[in-house]
Amino acid sequence: MDSIQPLCLLCDQTSDQVPLIKMQYRGRDYWICPQHLPKLIHNPAELEGILPGAKDLQPSQHEH
Ligand SMILES: [Zn+2]
Repeated sequence: MDSIQPLCLLCDQTSDQVPLIKMQYRGRDYWICPQHLPKLIHNPAELEGILPGAKDLQPSQHEH
């Protein structure tokens, strides 16, 4: 059984350094820090390669 150290999927910071938000996607667990959560929300396509299929996610529409 692997004990996986939680790391932000983008910056590799651990929960010792930043709060990490756990999420599930396609049957896998991931962690992301608050700094990178907006990228997942607004630019999910940039995460393709880290999250397979992310390019098909719809960015949240945000009014400026
Ligand atoms: Zn991060």
